[in-house]
Amino acid sequence: MGDERYDVIVIGSGPGGLSAAALLQKRGFDCLLVEKNELLGGKMVSIEKDGYAYDLFPHGQVPMRGSAFETVFEELGVSDEFVPAIEPSDPRDILTMLYRRGDKQEYSRTTQGQAMADPGPFFKVWDLTPEEEEAVVNVMAEMTLMPEEQVHALDDVTMKEWLDERDVPGPLYNYLGFHANASLAEPIDLVAASEQITIMQQVMLQGGGGQYEGGFGTLAKVMAREFEKHGGTLLTGCRVERISIEDGAVTGIKTSDGRFEAPVVVSSAGIQPTILKLCGEQHFDKTYVNYIKGLVPGWAFTSIRYFLDEPVMETGIYIMYSDDSWLDTARFERVKNGETPEEVILFMVNHSFFDEHAAPPGKQVLVSGTVCSSNPEAREIEAIWKRMDEQMKEHFPEIWEICERREYSGPKEIAALTRDSVLPGQGGECVGLAQIVGQCGKHKPDSNAPINGLYIAGADAGAKGMGTHQSALSGIAVAKMAQRYLLGRSKMR
Ligand SMILES: Cc1cc2nc3c(=O)[nH]c(=O)nc-3n(C[C@H](O)[C@H](O)[C@H](O)COP(=O)(O)OP(=O)(O)OC[C@H]3O[C@@H](n4cnc5c(N)ncnc54)[C@H](O)[C@@H]3O)c2cc1C
Repeated sequence: MGDERYDVIVIGSGPGGLSAAALLQKRGFDCLLVEKNELLGGKMVSIEKDGYAYDLFPHGQVPMRGSAFETVFEELGVSDEFVPAIEPSDPRDILTMLYRRGDKQEYSRTTQGQAMADPGPFFKVWDLTPEEEEAVVNVMAEMTLMPEEQVHALDDVTMKEWLDERDVPGPLYNYLGFHANASLAEPIDLVAASEQITIMQQVMLQGGGGQYEGGFGTLAKVMAREFEKHGGTLLTGCRVERISIEDGAVTGIKTSDGRFEAPVVVSSAGIQPTILKLCGEQHFDKTYVNYIKGLVPGWAFTSIRYFLDEPVMETGIYIMYSDDSWLDTARFERVKNGETPEEVILFMVNHSFFDEHAAPPGKQVLVSGTVCSSNPEAREIEAIWKRMDEQMKEHFPEIWEICERREYSGPKEIAALTRDSVLPGQGGECVGLAQIVGQCGKHKPDSNAPINGLYIAGADAGAKGMGTHQSALSGIAVAKMAQRYLLGRSKMR
């Protein structure tokens, strides 16, 4: 195999790469999609094993209605296959929340329906006074109803700075500290208010926390099937080693399976691995290389997958946090320096709630996670796993006692599965680049890299919002850019 010619080569089958590849192929461009793993999906990969079907990492969709995947499926002509696993009208309680106020010893527990439509259960566990309830409603309403241009104007303001200017009761402040960790894998004192408010608006207005039958990997499977159906070439188990560049323009790739040529290369391997490793610094201006090196990676998420012998879980998502367990920058630094936290936040997905075939009859599978460093070599991960298990044992004994097997993963496994570590501390990112002030909105890296025909798709460039959604949005935008470039080239000939 080798020296084959395509219009476009796409690196990576995560939501960014797959959405770009499937759309470009459907529009008539001859595409090659190269994925180093045998399984498709990148970080949103799902596993089918021993009768179980689950995500390797805990995922929830935001927004549930109007997501970028809906747009991609529509253009591919497979809207009927875009089926979130719960309807907006589903009356069941979807969320179990455990919360401990800083001034209390015990956690309170509640369950609630979709997308905070009724704040009652939250107000109850937060133990609010009537004045605090009113203040919470005011801040939530301001966030939810904020016009788009006002949200954009908050690219340079951290969420903490935005909240500090308002009358925000402690329980709401702490919830948003937890939310920044759980939805963005970021601390509230660095995360751009424009990013977090966008996600809060989507949760409130379009639904949040959705899943798919078979897990998020189902989305990847449908996009890959359509890609091949329209004539695209898919190479799995093939690692891209180099992006070839001549006279300031891409010419193709060198892989473990040979060389392939194309005037356009779309990479979703991560902006830093793409520029610094696959292309090589020598092709870029020093200022651009320094800019790429200075971009801050997001935090990671550890995961533990619990395989249960009995169907004891009743809701789809479980969250657990206290005023003391979510991480701001200072707390994160302490954990990184070896101080094991007494409690951690937990975000957990019970696949069996969303999919009756997620586990063999009478069994269930739960995928749990908490924030941690994105450094694949981070040494604190084992202590965090231990703390996660201890919390499970203490607060969810009904789950712990019937757990027949557990699987563990952290930044090392995320990096091995998805992006290469090319800078110290980078590789295991949960989402991609940190969604912090200076790197979001108008400051987000451009998908159009300074080499003709090179585009960055996925979480690192060109879009905003929660992980999978923003990655697919970026893929949609890149498909347009690449199409314009190719059409421009053919006109010039
Ligand atoms: C623990 C965890 C929890 C998460 N929770 C959520 C959530 O609740 N909601 C949400 O929306 N998002 C969540 N995310 C984030 C989301 O999964 C990512 O942001 C998204 O998948 C990134 O998409 P991407 O296309 O940018 O890259 P990726 O998904 O990382 O895909 C990149 C692909 O490129 C391939 N690749 C890399 N280098 C090469 C190479 N040299 N040659 C060939 N192939 C290569 C990789 O193998 C990979 O398949 C979570 C992620 C993790 C890890």
